Amino acid sequence: MADTANIRKFESAQDYVKRFIVQEEIDKYLPGGRHFIDTAKIDSLIAGMDANPAADPAKVREIIAKSEETCETLLPEETAELMKVTDPALFEEMRAAADRIKHKVYDNRIVVFAPLYMSNLCVNGCRYCGFREGNAQQKRRVLTMDELKEELDVLAGRIGHKRLIAVYGEHPSTSTEYIAETIETCYAHQVPAPRTGAKVGIRRVNVNAAPLPVEDLKVLRSVGIGTFQVFQETYNRKLYEQMHPAWSVKGNYDWRTTCFHRCMEAGVDDVGLGVLYGLCDWRYELLATIMHARDLERWFNIGPHTLSFPRLEPASGTKVPEESPWLIDDDTFARILVIARLSVPYTGMIVTARESAASRNRVLDHGMTQLDCSSNIAIKGYSDFANEAHQEKERQQFMLGDNRSIDEMVRYLASRGTITSFCTAGYRCGRTGGCIMDALKTGREGKFCKINAVLTFREWLDDFASGETRAIGEKLIEKELAGIKEWLPKFYPTVMKQYEATCRGERDLFF
Ligand code: SF4
Repeated sequence: MADTANIRKFESAQDYVKRFIVQEEIDKYLPGGRHFIDTAKIDSLIAGMDANPAADPAKVREIIAKSEETCETLLPEETAELMKVTDPALFEEMRAAADRIKHKVYDNRIVVFAPLYMSNLCVNGCRYCGFREGNAQQKRRVLTMDELKEELDVLAGRIGHKRLIAVYGEHPSTSTEYIAETIETCYAHQVPAPRTGAKVGIRRVNVNAAPLPVEDLKVLRSVGIGTFQVFQETYNRKLYEQMHPAWSVKGNYDWRTTCFHRCMEAGVDDVGLGVLYGLCDWRYELLATIMHARDLERWFNIGPHTLSFPRLEPASGTKVPEESPWLIDDDTFARILVIARLSVPYTGMIVTARESAASRNRVLDHGMTQLDCSSNIAIKGYSDFANEAHQEKERQQFMLGDNRSIDEMVRYLASRGTITSFCTAGYRCGRTGGCIMDALKTGREGKFCKINAVLTFREWLDDFASGETRAIGEKLIEKELAGIKEWLPKFYPTVMKQYEATCRGERDLFF
């Protein structure tokens, strides 16, 4: 493992960079110095789109059919053809297919989670980020374990979340040991639910942090990390270098882009990719994302567990989010999601509360599978602010656009026939990485998900929901159970046994 104890003694980011980046762990995955993000190919595909912008409807329909039938990642050339579609009727065909694929792979459920920011100290200087080193407007803090427990009291005990994305700045004070300790604390902390008194807690901790060496990733694996998420921000190397100073750890493009290869090597086989839309031409980013996914599949036969779609949002002490020439509007955002779903059909797609409520509502049928709610991204924000919608620019990385509470969100989703899932079973049953790829592509995992969604939804309705939300949620459960009975008549009594036990107050039952 990297010598993080010694890193604490170092004074400068430059020392940290030298100590932390393991060159052999980069070179191994860029054989012959060739990068899997093929810049020349992306440039040529974009030039081709600009020179010949009309999509070929027959070709587009062929690509849609391939995506739907095989659930395999498309070729960059195929994704480029989808990018040319501007005709509303043809785009609607793409959107409807994206929605069908989402239902085939994940059923009619949306998984919910909450972000939990552990720190806002960072050695990097990313020009668009409120946490960057030297931004004097930011109030800095690293959660202690006692403060973390206070956050968990709210997240698990008052809101009812089961799944977190824990977020860490890149800094010696949030070393791998710190990350591991926070994950263990999250799993160990149990609190009584407000309505039933049942013991509840966090069941899956996904992590968003800096790229790590293999040995450090093994440590996170040993404490039960869920998905390891690292956002590339931009795949365009030139722009990447402009946004991330060369003196910083993050200034090393190759260390960041090879991060998921190291994850796989370390056995952390659920990985989450994402770029920061608005920094560069969205077509470049999406084509590069496809190349990244394909390279992981080529090496390990495992693609990204999730793709995230953060858009640049206002942040403290920076004008980049307002002044970037590549900002995208809501229509383009919706297009990106549909093209991404068709391009990597099996992957989970996350749209966070950075988006406005209107934007998130609009894209619910564009292939997305996960969202956060009741989110507070200020450091120690959950325990400090009784009002969940409260935001403080100086304590958070960027500003949120959707402040809906979990109760509102669950009710809204149920009103449109979508079940909220709190399921974390796949990960705890070993259905991750390569074991889950096939199940996702054939739609088998979606069926497990339906049953587990019902059980966890029942738990949450009983433990946390308002009367209004419970009423609409129970109607949806009846419909879902009827669907399970029809689909799995022989297995249905077993499902009902678990369901009835859940109704009686047993918790954490899953298939
Ligand atoms: S984007 Fe991440 S790495 Fe860059 S300054 Fe912000 S917290 Fe640090």
